Amino acid sequence: MNNEKILSELQNIVGKAYVSNDPAELFMYSRDPGASKPRDVDFVAMPRTTKEVQAIVKLANKFKIPVTPMGGGLTLSGLVIPVKGGIVIDMKRMDTIVEINKLSRYALIEPGVSTGQLQAFLEENYPELQVSVPDAPPSVTVAGNALINGSGFLSHQYGDHGSMLNGLEVVLPNGEICKVGSCALSDYWFTRGPIPDFIGLFTSSFGMMGIITKLSIKLYPKPKMRDLVFGLFKKSEIIPELLYNITFTELAEDILLGAQGKPDWMAGYIFIIVYITGGSQEELDKKEKRLKKIYRKNGARYMKPPPRIRDIFLEKPQFAAKAADFRKGGGFEYVGSFFPLEKVPEAMDRGMEISNKYGIIPTLGARIFGPTHTVMVFFSYSFNRADPDDIQNAKNALRDTNIMTLELGGIPWKGELRAQQMILEKMNPNYKYLLKTIKEQLDPNNIMNPGNWEVK
Ligand SMILES: Cc1cc2nc3c(=O)[nH]c(=O)nc-3n(C[C@H](O)[C@H](O)[C@H](O)COP(=O)(O)OP(=O)(O)OC[C@H]3O[C@@H](n4cnc5c(N)ncnc54)[C@H](O)[C@@H]3O)c2cc1C
Repeated sequence: MNNEKILSELQNIVGKAYVSNDPAELFMYSRDPGASKPRDVDFVAMPRTTKEVQAIVKLANKFKIPVTPMGGGLTLSGLVIPVKGGIVIDMKRMDTIVEINKLSRYALIEPGVSTGQLQAFLEENYPELQVSVPDAPPSVTVAGNALINGSGFLSHQYGDHGSMLNGLEVVLPNGEICKVGSCALSDYWFTRGPIPDFIGLFTSSFGMMGIITKLSIKLYPKPKMRDLVFGLFKKSEIIPELLYNITFTELAEDILLGAQGKPDWMAGYIFIIVYITGGSQEELDKKEKRLKKIYRKNGARYMKPPPRIRDIFLEKPQFAAKAADFRKGGGFEYVGSFFPLEKVPEAMDRGMEISNKYGIIPTLGARIFGPTHTVMVFFSYSFNRADPDDIQNAKNALRDTNIMTLELGGIPWKGELRAQQMILEKMNPNYKYLLKTIKEQLDPNNIMNPGNWEVK
Protein backbone atom coordinates (compact mmCIF):
# COMPACT_ATOMS: atom_id res chain seq x y z
CA MET A 1 0.00 0.00 0.00
CA ASN A 2 1.38 3.39 -1.00
CA ASN A 3 0.60 5.35 2.17
CA GLU A 4 1.94 8.71 1.04
CA LYS A 5 -0.02 8.56 -2.21
CA ILE A 6 -3.24 7.62 -0.43
CA LEU A 7 -2.72 10.36 2.15
CA SER A 8 -2.24 13.02 -0.49
CA GLU A 9 -5.29 11.82 -2.47
CA LEU A 10 -7.39 11.87 0.72
CA GLN A 11 -6.14 15.39 1.44
CA ASN A 12 -7.22 16.45 -2.04
CA ILE A 13 -10.70 15.07 -1.37
CA VAL A 14 -11.50 16.35 2.13
CA GLY A 15 -8.84 18.98 2.76
CA LYS A 16 -5.64 18.67 4.81
CA ALA A 17 -7.31 19.47 8.12
CA TYR A 18 -9.72 16.55 7.85
CA VAL A 19 -7.47 13.59 7.18
CA SER A 20 -4.79 12.05 9.32
CA ASN A 21 -2.42 9.13 9.57
CA ASP A 22 -0.79 10.46 12.73
CA PRO A 23 -0.65 7.61 15.31
CA ALA A 24 -1.65 10.02 18.10
CA GLU A 25 -4.85 10.90 16.23
CA LEU A 26 -5.53 7.32 15.12
CA PHE A 27 -5.27 6.08 18.72
CA MET A 28 -8.93 6.88 19.52
CA TYR A 29 -10.11 5.26 16.29
CA SER A 30 -8.34 1.99 17.05
CA ARG A 31 -10.45 1.20 20.15
CA ASP A 32 -13.84 1.78 21.75
CA PRO A 33 -15.13 1.75 25.34
CA GLY A 34 -16.07 -1.94 25.11
CA ALA A 35 -13.81 -4.90 25.76
CA SER A 36 -12.71 -5.48 22.13
CA LYS A 37 -8.97 -5.51 21.54
CA PRO A 38 -7.60 -2.39 19.79
CA ARG A 39 -6.98 -2.89 16.05
CA ASP A 40 -4.88 -0.96 13.54
CA VAL A 41 -6.22 2.00 11.58
CA ASP A 42 -4.22 3.50 8.70
CA PHE A 43 -6.13 6.74 8.07
CA VAL A 44 -9.07 8.70 9.33
CA ALA A 45 -10.94 11.00 6.96
CA MET A 46 -13.83 13.33 7.74
CA PRO A 47 -15.84 14.14 4.61
CA ARG A 48 -18.35 17.00 4.48
CA THR A 49 -20.38 16.01 1.40
CA THR A 50 -21.75 12.96 -0.36
CA LYS A 51 -19.43 13.71 -3.28
CA GLU A 52 -16.45 13.51 -0.93
CA VAL A 53 -17.65 10.16 0.44
CA GLN A 54 -18.04 8.98 -3.13
CA ALA A 55 -14.49 10.08 -4.00
CA ILE A 56 -13.09 8.25 -0.94
CA VAL A 57 -14.89 5.05 -1.91
CA LYS A 58 -13.59 5.30 -5.48
CA LEU A 59 -10.08 5.82 -4.11
CA ALA A 60 -10.50 2.80 -1.81
CA ASN A 61 -11.45 0.69 -4.83
CA LYS A 62 -8.44 1.92 -6.77
CA PHE A 63 -6.03 0.94 -3.98
CA LYS A 64 -8.17 -1.95 -2.66
CA ILE A 65 -8.03 -0.49 0.81
CA PRO A 66 -10.84 -1.09 3.36
CA VAL A 67 -13.17 1.67 4.52
CA THR A 68 -15.17 1.66 7.76
CA PRO A 69 -17.96 4.20 8.29
CA MET A 70 -18.26 5.61 11.79
CA GLY A 71 -20.92 7.67 13.57
CA GLY A 72 -20.52 8.12 17.33
CA GLY A 73 -18.50 4.88 17.63
CA LEU A 74 -20.35 3.87 20.77
CA THR A 75 -21.87 0.46 20.09
CA LEU A 76 -19.31 -1.02 22.52
CA SER A 77 -18.92 -4.06 20.27
CA GLY A 78 -15.97 -2.76 18.28
CA LEU A 79 -18.09 -2.30 15.16
CA VAL A 80 -16.21 0.77 13.95
CA ILE A 81 -12.74 -0.53 14.71
CA PRO A 82 -11.58 -1.78 11.31
CA VAL A 83 -10.94 -5.51 11.18
CA LYS A 84 -8.48 -5.22 8.30
CA GLY A 85 -7.10 -1.70 8.74
CA GLY A 86 -7.62 1.00 6.11
CA ILE A 87 -9.62 4.24 6.29
CA VAL A 88 -12.10 5.09 9.02
CA ILE A 89 -14.64 7.47 7.50
CA ASP A 90 -15.77 9.58 10.42
CA MET A 91 -19.16 11.04 9.42
CA LYS A 92 -19.46 13.66 12.16
CA ARG A 93 -18.95 16.67 9.84
CA MET A 94 -22.02 15.65 7.84
CA ASP A 95 -24.35 16.98 10.50
CA THR A 96 -27.03 18.99 8.68
CA ILE A 97 -30.70 18.63 9.49
CA VAL A 98 -31.85 19.03 5.91
CA GLU A 99 -35.62 19.13 6.32
CA ILE A 100 -38.39 18.50 8.81
CA ASN A 101 -41.60 17.46 7.11
CA LYS A 102 -44.15 18.29 9.76
CA LEU A 103 -47.21 16.88 8.02
CA SER A 104 -45.68 13.60 6.85
CA ARG A 105 -43.71 13.50 10.11
CA TYR A 106 -40.16 12.74 9.13
CA ALA A 107 -36.73 14.31 9.47
CA LEU A 108 -34.33 14.23 6.54
CA ILE A 109 -30.82 14.40 7.99
CA GLU A 110 -27.18 13.73 7.29
CA PRO A 111 -25.51 10.75 9.02
CA GLY A 112 -23.43 12.80 11.45
CA VAL A 113 -26.50 14.28 13.17
CA SER A 114 -26.49 13.11 16.77
CA THR A 115 -29.56 11.98 18.68
CA GLY A 116 -29.08 14.89 21.11
CA GLN A 117 -28.85 17.37 18.22
CA LEU A 118 -32.06 16.21 16.54
CA GLN A 119 -33.91 15.99 19.84
CA ALA A 120 -32.85 19.54 20.82
CA PHE A 121 -33.71 20.90 17.36
CA LEU A 122 -37.22 19.45 17.56
CA GLU A 123 -37.76 20.70 21.10
CA GLU A 124 -36.86 24.20 20.00
CA ASN A 125 -38.54 24.34 16.59
CA TYR A 126 -41.22 21.63 16.51
CA PRO A 127 -42.24 21.04 20.15
CA GLU A 128 -45.25 19.03 19.03
CA LEU A 129 -43.00 16.41 17.37
CA GLN A 130 -40.55 13.90 18.85
CA VAL A 131 -38.02 11.33 17.71
CA SER A 132 -37.37 8.06 19.53
CA VAL A 133 -33.89 8.23 21.07
CA PRO A 134 -31.87 5.41 22.63
CA ASP A 135 -30.77 5.55 26.27
CA ALA A 136 -27.24 6.00 24.97
CA PRO A 137 -25.10 9.13 25.35
CA PRO A 138 -26.66 11.92 23.21
CA SER A 139 -23.49 12.13 21.10
CA VAL A 140 -24.36 8.89 19.27
CA THR A 141 -25.71 9.39 15.76
CA VAL A 142 -29.29 8.85 14.64
CA ALA A 143 -27.87 6.96 11.63
CA GLY A 144 -25.53 4.66 13.60
CA ASN A 145 -28.30 3.80 15.99
CA ALA A 146 -30.99 3.12 13.36
CA LEU A 147 -28.48 1.15 11.26
CA ILE A 148 -27.90 -1.30 14.11
CA ASN A 149 -31.66 -1.66 14.79
CA GLY A 150 -31.30 0.27 18.04
CA SER A 151 -34.26 1.09 20.23
CA GLY A 152 -35.64 3.83 22.46
CA PHE A 153 -38.64 5.11 24.37
CA LEU A 154 -41.01 4.82 21.37
CA SER A 155 -39.98 1.31 20.36
CA HIS A 156 -42.84 -0.32 22.23
CA GLN A 157 -45.32 1.68 20.18
CA TYR A 158 -43.51 1.83 16.87
CA GLY A 159 -40.77 -0.82 16.71
CA ASP A 160 -36.99 -0.69 16.62
CA HIS A 161 -35.27 2.32 15.09
CA GLY A 162 -34.30 0.49 11.89
CA SER A 163 -37.98 0.11 11.14
CA MET A 164 -38.42 3.90 11.55
CA LEU A 165 -36.26 4.56 8.48
CA ASN A 166 -38.23 5.85 5.48
CA GLY A 167 -35.38 6.17 3.03
CA LEU A 168 -31.63 6.32 2.52
CA GLU A 169 -29.09 7.90 0.24
CA VAL A 170 -26.20 5.45 -0.01
CA VAL A 171 -22.77 5.49 -1.59
CA LEU A 172 -22.55 1.89 -2.79
CA PRO A 173 -19.27 -0.05 -2.59
CA ASN A 174 -18.60 0.74 -6.28
CA GLY A 175 -18.85 4.48 -5.53
CA GLU A 176 -22.24 5.04 -7.17
CA ILE A 177 -24.88 7.05 -5.29
CA CYS A 178 -28.17 5.21 -4.81
CA LYS A 179 -31.45 6.31 -3.27
CA VAL A 180 -33.53 3.70 -1.47
CA GLY A 181 -37.22 4.09 -0.59
CA SER A 182 -39.73 6.60 -1.97
CA CYS A 183 -36.87 9.13 -2.45
CA ALA A 184 -35.74 6.93 -5.35
CA LEU A 185 -38.60 8.41 -7.40
CA SER A 186 -40.21 11.19 -5.38
CA ASP A 187 -39.17 14.44 -3.64
CA TYR A 188 -40.82 13.07 -0.51
CA TRP A 189 -38.84 10.74 1.76
CA PHE A 190 -42.03 9.44 3.33
CA THR A 191 -42.13 5.66 2.82
CA ARG A 192 -39.99 2.60 2.07
CA GLY A 193 -42.69 0.89 -0.01
CA PRO A 194 -44.61 -0.04 -2.07
CA ILE A 195 -41.53 -0.96 -4.09
CA PRO A 196 -39.03 -3.75 -3.34
CA ASP A 197 -37.69 -2.75 0.07
CA PHE A 198 -33.89 -2.78 0.24
CA ILE A 199 -33.43 -0.69 3.38
CA GLY A 200 -32.89 -3.93 5.29
CA LEU A 201 -29.73 -4.52 3.25
CA PHE A 202 -28.13 -1.65 5.13
CA THR A 203 -29.40 -2.32 8.65
CA SER A 204 -27.40 -4.55 10.99
CA SER A 205 -24.91 -5.15 8.18
CA PHE A 206 -22.41 -2.87 9.96
CA GLY A 207 -21.36 -0.72 7.01
CA MET A 208 -20.45 -3.64 4.75
CA MET A 209 -23.05 -2.85 2.04
CA GLY A 210 -22.57 0.91 1.60
CA ILE A 211 -22.17 4.27 3.28
CA ILE A 212 -25.30 6.17 4.22
CA THR A 213 -25.05 9.86 3.36
CA LYS A 214 -28.67 10.89 4.06
CA LEU A 215 -31.57 9.28 5.86
CA SER A 216 -35.19 9.95 6.59
CA ILE A 217 -36.37 8.97 10.06
CA LYS A 218 -39.95 8.98 11.32
CA LEU A 219 -41.16 11.57 13.81
CA TYR A 220 -44.12 11.13 16.13
CA PRO A 221 -46.68 13.31 17.88
CA LYS A 222 -45.51 14.39 21.32
CA PRO A 223 -48.13 14.00 24.03
CA LYS A 224 -48.67 16.81 26.52
CA MET A 225 -48.02 14.79 29.66
CA ARG A 226 -45.96 11.75 30.57
CA ASP A 227 -45.64 9.73 33.74
CA LEU A 228 -44.70 6.26 34.88
CA VAL A 229 -46.20 3.42 36.88
CA PHE A 230 -43.56 1.53 38.85
CA GLY A 231 -43.90 -2.01 40.16
CA LEU A 232 -41.81 -4.75 41.74
CA PHE A 233 -41.89 -8.52 41.78
CA LYS A 234 -39.59 -11.38 42.63
CA LYS A 235 -40.30 -14.24 40.26
CA SER A 236 -39.36 -13.92 36.61
CA GLU A 237 -41.96 -16.55 35.68
CA ILE A 238 -44.77 -13.96 35.90
CA ILE A 239 -43.24 -11.83 33.12
CA PRO A 240 -44.99 -13.29 30.03
CA GLU A 241 -48.55 -13.03 31.44
CA LEU A 242 -47.88 -9.65 33.01
CA LEU A 243 -46.55 -8.15 29.78
CA TYR A 244 -49.16 -9.84 27.66
CA ASN A 245 -51.93 -8.36 29.78
CA ILE A 246 -50.41 -4.90 29.92
CA THR A 247 -49.84 -4.70 26.18
CA PHE A 248 -53.39 -5.91 25.60
CA THR A 249 -54.68 -2.62 27.03
CA GLU A 250 -52.61 -0.50 24.59
CA LEU A 251 -52.05 1.98 27.44
CA ALA A 252 -48.27 2.04 27.45
CA GLU A 253 -45.90 4.38 25.66
CA ASP A 254 -42.91 2.30 26.77
CA ILE A 255 -42.36 -0.75 28.98
CA LEU A 256 -39.10 -1.52 30.74
CA LEU A 257 -38.02 -4.31 33.05
CA GLY A 258 -34.89 -4.14 35.15
CA ALA A 259 -32.94 -6.18 37.67
CA GLN A 260 -29.95 -4.69 39.43
CA GLY A 261 -27.71 -5.76 42.28
CA LYS A 262 -27.43 -2.11 43.38
CA PRO A 263 -28.79 -0.18 45.24
CA ASP A 264 -29.17 -2.90 47.88
CA TRP A 265 -32.95 -2.57 48.13
CA MET A 266 -33.26 -3.63 44.48
CA ALA A 267 -31.29 -6.88 44.84
CA GLY A 268 -33.56 -9.90 44.39
CA TYR A 269 -36.32 -7.88 42.73
CA ILE A 270 -37.30 -7.25 39.16
CA PHE A 271 -38.86 -3.87 38.54
CA ILE A 272 -41.30 -2.91 35.86
CA ILE A 273 -41.91 0.60 34.57
CA VAL A 274 -44.84 1.33 32.32
CA TYR A 275 -44.72 4.81 30.81
CA ILE A 276 -48.08 6.45 30.21
CA THR A 277 -48.97 9.61 28.34
CA GLY A 278 -52.03 11.80 28.03
CA GLY A 279 -53.57 15.21 27.64
CA SER A 280 -54.65 15.70 31.26
CA GLN A 281 -53.89 14.51 34.80
CA GLU A 282 -57.29 12.83 34.88
CA GLU A 283 -56.38 10.71 31.86
CA LEU A 284 -53.07 9.70 33.45
CA ASP A 285 -54.80 8.83 36.73
CA LYS A 286 -57.25 6.55 34.93
CA LYS A 287 -54.43 4.75 33.13
CA GLU A 288 -52.45 4.38 36.34
CA LYS A 289 -55.46 2.90 38.13
CA ARG A 290 -55.98 0.30 35.44
CA LEU A 291 -52.31 -0.66 35.38
CA LYS A 292 -52.16 -1.00 39.16
CA LYS A 293 -55.00 -3.50 38.90
CA ILE A 294 -53.13 -5.51 36.27
CA TYR A 295 -49.95 -5.47 38.38
CA ARG A 296 -51.91 -6.81 41.37
CA LYS A 297 -53.72 -9.52 39.39
CA ASN A 298 -50.47 -10.78 37.88
CA GLY A 299 -48.32 -10.89 41.02
CA ALA A 300 -46.49 -7.54 40.89
CA ARG A 301 -46.60 -4.90 43.61
CA TYR A 302 -47.19 -1.26 42.75
CA MET A 303 -44.71 1.10 44.35
CA LYS A 304 -44.55 4.88 44.31
CA PRO A 305 -40.95 5.69 43.42
CA PRO A 306 -39.17 8.46 45.38
CA PRO A 307 -39.34 11.74 43.38
CA ARG A 308 -35.58 11.66 42.61
CA ILE A 309 -35.79 8.16 41.15
CA ARG A 310 -38.97 9.06 39.26
CA ASP A 311 -37.24 12.06 37.67
CA ILE A 312 -34.27 9.95 36.60
CA PHE A 313 -36.55 7.37 35.01
CA LEU A 314 -38.47 10.08 33.16
CA GLU A 315 -35.36 11.49 31.50
CA LYS A 316 -34.90 10.97 27.77
CA PRO A 317 -32.30 9.48 27.31
CA GLN A 318 -32.69 7.59 30.49
CA PHE A 319 -30.44 6.81 33.43
CA ALA A 320 -28.63 3.86 31.82
CA ALA A 321 -25.61 5.86 30.73
CA LYS A 322 -24.94 6.93 34.30
CA ALA A 323 -25.87 3.71 36.06
CA ALA A 324 -23.88 1.18 34.10
CA ASP A 325 -20.39 1.83 35.42
CA PHE A 326 -20.71 0.33 38.90
CA ARG A 327 -17.01 -0.35 39.13
CA LYS A 328 -16.02 3.18 38.20
CA GLY A 329 -13.46 1.55 35.94
CA GLY A 330 -14.68 3.18 32.74
CA GLY A 331 -15.46 -0.07 30.91
CA PHE A 332 -18.89 -1.35 30.04
CA GLU A 333 -19.65 -4.29 27.80
CA TYR A 334 -23.12 -5.38 26.91
CA VAL A 335 -25.33 -7.32 24.62
CA GLY A 336 -29.02 -6.73 24.17
CA SER A 337 -30.38 -9.91 22.71
CA PHE A 338 -33.71 -10.14 20.91
CA PHE A 339 -35.99 -12.81 22.42
CA PRO A 340 -39.52 -14.10 21.98
CA LEU A 341 -41.59 -13.20 25.08
CA GLU A 342 -41.86 -16.79 26.32
CA LYS A 343 -38.09 -17.06 26.74
CA VAL A 344 -37.62 -13.85 28.73
CA PRO A 345 -37.87 -15.38 32.25
CA GLU A 346 -35.19 -17.97 31.51
CA ALA A 347 -33.00 -15.39 29.75
CA MET A 348 -33.15 -13.06 32.75
CA ASP A 349 -32.52 -15.83 35.28
CA ARG A 350 -29.57 -17.14 33.32
CA GLY A 351 -28.23 -13.60 32.81
CA MET A 352 -28.29 -13.19 36.58
CA GLU A 353 -26.42 -16.50 37.02
CA ILE A 354 -23.76 -15.40 34.51
CA SER A 355 -23.21 -12.09 36.35
CA ASN A 356 -22.86 -13.93 39.66
CA LYS A 357 -20.54 -16.55 38.15
CA TYR A 358 -18.15 -13.78 37.03
CA GLY A 359 -18.51 -11.69 40.18
CA ILE A 360 -20.14 -8.77 38.34
CA ILE A 361 -22.92 -6.74 39.95
CA PRO A 362 -25.97 -7.81 37.95
CA THR A 363 -27.43 -5.16 35.65
CA LEU A 364 -29.97 -6.45 33.22
CA GLY A 365 -33.28 -5.42 31.87
CA ALA A 366 -35.67 -5.57 28.96
CA ARG A 367 -37.59 -3.33 26.60
CA ILE A 368 -40.66 -4.49 24.73
CA PHE A 369 -40.86 -3.74 20.99
CA GLY A 370 -44.41 -3.59 19.65
CA PRO A 371 -47.16 -5.38 21.55
CA THR A 372 -44.66 -8.09 22.68
CA HIS A 373 -43.57 -8.90 19.13
CA THR A 374 -39.95 -8.85 20.33
CA VAL A 375 -38.35 -8.35 23.71
CA MET A 376 -34.84 -6.95 23.86
CA VAL A 377 -33.16 -8.26 27.01
CA PHE A 378 -29.94 -6.46 27.82
CA PHE A 379 -27.11 -7.76 29.97
CA SER A 380 -24.34 -5.39 30.92
CA TYR A 381 -20.95 -6.17 32.37
CA SER A 382 -18.86 -3.33 33.74
CA PHE A 383 -15.11 -3.67 34.08
CA ASN A 384 -11.97 -1.82 34.99
CA ARG A 385 -10.27 -0.73 31.78
CA ALA A 386 -6.86 -0.70 33.44
CA ASP A 387 -7.09 -4.36 34.46
CA PRO A 388 -6.60 -6.96 31.67
CA ASP A 389 -8.01 -9.77 33.86
CA ASP A 390 -11.14 -7.76 34.52
CA ILE A 391 -11.54 -7.08 30.79
CA GLN A 392 -11.20 -10.79 30.05
CA ASN A 393 -13.74 -11.52 32.79
CA ALA A 394 -16.32 -9.24 31.11
CA LYS A 395 -15.56 -10.84 27.74
CA ASN A 396 -16.15 -14.30 29.18
CA ALA A 397 -19.47 -13.18 30.63
CA LEU A 398 -20.42 -11.77 27.23
CA ARG A 399 -19.46 -15.03 25.48
CA ASP A 400 -21.59 -17.07 27.91
CA THR A 401 -24.49 -14.66 27.34
CA ASN A 402 -24.26 -15.06 23.58
CA ILE A 403 -24.18 -18.85 23.91
CA MET A 404 -27.19 -18.78 26.24
CA THR A 405 -29.08 -16.42 23.89
CA LEU A 406 -28.61 -18.69 20.89
CA GLU A 407 -29.53 -21.78 22.94
CA LEU A 408 -32.83 -20.15 23.91
CA GLY A 409 -33.67 -19.20 20.32
CA GLY A 410 -32.79 -15.53 20.73
CA ILE A 411 -30.40 -13.44 18.61
CA PRO A 412 -27.52 -11.36 19.97
CA TRP A 413 -27.84 -7.69 18.92
CA LYS A 414 -25.04 -5.57 17.36
CA GLY A 415 -22.74 -8.54 17.82
CA GLU A 416 -18.99 -8.15 18.04
CA LEU A 417 -16.93 -10.27 15.61
CA ARG A 418 -17.10 -13.39 17.76
CA ALA A 419 -20.88 -13.10 18.21
CA GLN A 420 -21.30 -12.60 14.45
CA GLN A 421 -19.47 -15.88 13.83
CA MET A 422 -21.60 -17.66 16.46
CA ILE A 423 -24.74 -16.42 14.72
CA LEU A 424 -23.44 -17.46 11.30
CA GLU A 425 -22.65 -20.95 12.61
CA LYS A 426 -26.30 -21.43 13.54
CA MET A 427 -27.74 -19.74 10.46
CA ASN A 428 -29.57 -21.53 7.68
CA PRO A 429 -26.96 -22.23 4.93
CA ASN A 430 -29.06 -20.63 2.21
CA TYR A 431 -29.37 -17.42 4.23
CA LYS A 432 -25.58 -17.39 4.40
CA TYR A 433 -25.41 -18.06 0.66
CA LEU A 434 -27.70 -15.07 0.06
CA LEU A 435 -25.58 -12.82 2.28
CA LYS A 436 -22.31 -13.88 0.65
CA THR A 437 -23.69 -13.56 -2.88
CA ILE A 438 -25.12 -10.07 -2.33
CA LYS A 439 -21.92 -8.89 -0.65
CA GLU A 440 -19.70 -10.25 -3.46
CA GLN A 441 -21.90 -8.72 -6.15
CA LEU A 442 -22.03 -5.30 -4.51
CA ASP A 443 -18.46 -5.20 -3.27
CA PRO A 444 -16.19 -7.32 -5.50
CA ASN A 445 -13.05 -5.68 -4.07
CA ASN A 446 -14.27 -6.38 -0.51
CA ILE A 447 -13.49 -2.86 0.68
CA MET A 448 -16.57 -2.15 2.84
CA ASN A 449 -15.80 -2.93 6.47
CA PRO A 450 -14.43 -6.38 5.54
CA GLY A 451 -14.30 -9.02 8.24
CA ASN A 452 -17.82 -8.32 9.50
CA TRP A 453 -20.45 -10.99 8.82
CA GLU A 454 -17.74 -12.90 7.00
CA VAL A 455 -19.19 -16.11 5.59
CA LYS A 456 -16.24 -18.50 5.55
C1 LIG B 1 -24.32 3.87 28.16
C2 LIG B 1 -24.89 3.35 26.88
C3 LIG B 1 -26.25 3.10 26.80
C4 LIG B 1 -26.80 2.62 25.60
N1 LIG B 1 -28.15 2.45 25.50
C5 LIG B 1 -28.70 2.13 24.30
C6 LIG B 1 -30.13 2.08 24.13
O1 LIG B 1 -30.91 2.32 25.03
N2 LIG B 1 -30.61 1.75 22.91
C7 LIG B 1 -29.79 1.51 21.87
O2 LIG B 1 -30.28 1.26 20.77
N3 LIG B 1 -28.45 1.54 22.00
C8 LIG B 1 -27.89 1.85 23.18
N4 LIG B 1 -26.52 1.89 23.30
C9 LIG B 1 -25.67 1.37 22.21
C10 LIG B 1 -25.09 2.37 21.22
O3 LIG B 1 -24.43 3.41 21.85
C11 LIG B 1 -26.10 2.99 20.38
O4 LIG B 1 -26.89 2.08 19.72
C12 LIG B 1 -25.55 4.03 19.40
O5 LIG B 1 -26.66 4.74 18.95
C13 LIG B 1 -24.80 3.61 18.21
O6 LIG B 1 -24.65 4.79 17.41
P1 LIG B 1 -23.24 5.32 17.01
O7 LIG B 1 -23.40 6.62 16.32
O8 LIG B 1 -22.32 5.27 18.16
O9 LIG B 1 -22.91 4.21 15.94
P2 LIG B 1 -21.49 3.68 15.45
O10 LIG B 1 -20.89 2.83 16.52
O11 LIG B 1 -20.66 4.79 14.96
O12 LIG B 1 -21.95 2.78 14.23
C14 LIG B 1 -22.77 1.67 14.37
C15 LIG B 1 -22.67 0.80 13.10
O13 LIG B 1 -23.24 1.51 12.02
C16 LIG B 1 -22.25 1.68 11.00
N5 LIG B 1 -22.41 3.04 10.49
C17 LIG B 1 -22.36 4.20 11.18
N6 LIG B 1 -22.58 5.23 10.36
C18 LIG B 1 -22.78 4.71 9.13
C19 LIG B 1 -23.06 5.27 7.87
N7 LIG B 1 -23.18 6.57 7.67
N8 LIG B 1 -23.21 4.42 6.81
C20 LIG B 1 -23.10 3.07 6.96
N9 LIG B 1 -22.85 2.51 8.15
C21 LIG B 1 -22.68 3.31 9.21
C22 LIG B 1 -20.91 1.50 11.66
O14 LIG B 1 -19.93 1.01 10.74
C23 LIG B 1 -21.25 0.45 12.71
O15 LIG B 1 -21.23 -0.83 12.16
C24 LIG B 1 -25.96 2.36 24.49
C25 LIG B 1 -24.58 2.61 24.59
C26 LIG B 1 -24.06 3.11 25.77
C27 LIG B 1 -22.59 3.41 25.80
